Amino acid sequence: MATEYSISAKEKIVRGEESKLKVVVVGAGLGGLGAAISILLAGHDVLVLESASEIAEVGAGIQVLPNSSRVLQTWGMKPMLSRYATRPKQLNMLGWKGNLISSMDFHASAAQYPGTFYWDFHRANLHKCLYDRAVELGAEVRCNARVQDVRIEDDGLSASVTLYSGEVLQTDLLVGADGINSKLRELLLGYPDPPTPTGDLAYRLLLSTKDMMKDPELASFVTDPQVNYWMGPAAHAVNYVLRGGELFNMVLLVPDDMPADGASTLEGNVEEMRALYKDWDPRIPKLLSLCESVYKWRLCIRQGMDSWSHPSGAWTMLGDAVHATLPYLASGAGMALEDGAVLGECLSRIKDKSAAEKKLALRVYEQCRKGRTEMVVNRGNLQQYLYHLDDGPEQEERDRKMRVVPTPPGE
Ligand code: FAD
Repeated sequence: MATEYSISAKEKIVRGEESKLKVVVVGAGLGGLGAAISILLAGHDVLVLESASEIAEVGAGIQVLPNSSRVLQTWGMKPMLSRYATRPKQLNMLGWKGNLISSMDFHASAAQYPGTFYWDFHRANLHKCLYDRAVELGAEVRCNARVQDVRIEDDGLSASVTLYSGEVLQTDLLVGADGINSKLRELLLGYPDPPTPTGDLAYRLLLSTKDMMKDPELASFVTDPQVNYWMGPAAHAVNYVLRGGELFNMVLLVPDDMPADGASTLEGNVEEMRALYKDWDPRIPKLLSLCESVYKWRLCIRQGMDSWSHPSGAWTMLGDAVHATLPYLASGAGMALEDGAVLGECLSRIKDKSAAEKKLALRVYEQCRKGRTEMVVNRGNLQQYLYHLDDGPEQEERDRKMRVVPTPPGE
């Protein structure tokens, strides 16, 4: 009989006032809310400051890989997330004309890490679950609270945070989770530090599966949930089903044609987008014919920082603010969630509120996270090169190597 594995949820630590930190997390994105949950479970108090007027998440789908599904389960979120999760059967890597190069069985792969899953979500559902769990554990979340400045108090024991409204808040520990255009990163470094453009942009589409079900060739994408990657010259495409077949997520990754000094998100031109894929696997133009409007996102990265934390021990950073990566490994949010998990783990060990205890916790946190997140950013850059090869010997070599991943029976 097959053994049912499960990952147990952590119990919230109960601690006395002498060791309970007042933590301010800046940014209620996936990373900031994850950190809030983890720090609350470590027995501290958390206030989350969010610049937006309401708690919401833009974008479409998000893949959660086994590493981050494990983290979410330790935060006690499996029951709430299971309602929204789609569990795709396999990953298919295809050439741009639609030829199957290799497949990976997700269920068999997840079984190597018992109790974990490959999950696909609508971002809004994942985000709302994180928000609900943080609030359930006692987080205070404030919207319309944009952080303008940070000051470390002379005693080094606390930070003060100034909002654009003029309000000033004191905290034992400040956690910057304010995303790729991070203000806190610049304040910590002490100089402007814009993200680095990668030369690619993403069109992000959400299609209604009702329209797809009318065409048998497209209907199979819905009835048999799989994650598909098509790789072609200078571009690739990714798609998968969301909410158990209600919606279809599609991302197109192409050369960046957006004005260099303009906004990083713009309304796209559907005809221009379709033209870029007109000669690809005929199922892609068919899918794109169902799209009426689209937005495009410039893709930038963050190469990491020498140090993620202030020497006082009163301020650290996580998520895209530190190590934004190309989404080509579907791991940016996963890395932000892991950051939060490790930070909470380190803060669960502190015995008092002294600068020495906080410094030690932040040093261990950073040492655990730096190498791994830098590796993911670099690997994302390599995937950009590999996914976008022109047809020719290098592409043939890539495909040959990809075939080493066993194709499940039946393919
Ligand atoms: P954000 O989500 O950007 O959150 C930052 C928050 O801080 C925002 O709410 C913002 O309003 C707030 N804020 C900003 N400045 C301030 C301020 N001064 N004061 C107060 N609040 C502030 N990752 C995956 O793991 N899997 C995927 O499948 C995946 N797919 C992707 C597809 C695309 C096309 C893209 C672009 C990314 C994808 N990612 C994926 C990456 C993932 O979206 C990010 O890594 C993740 O959302 C980063 O979370 P974060 O909390 O660090 O930042």
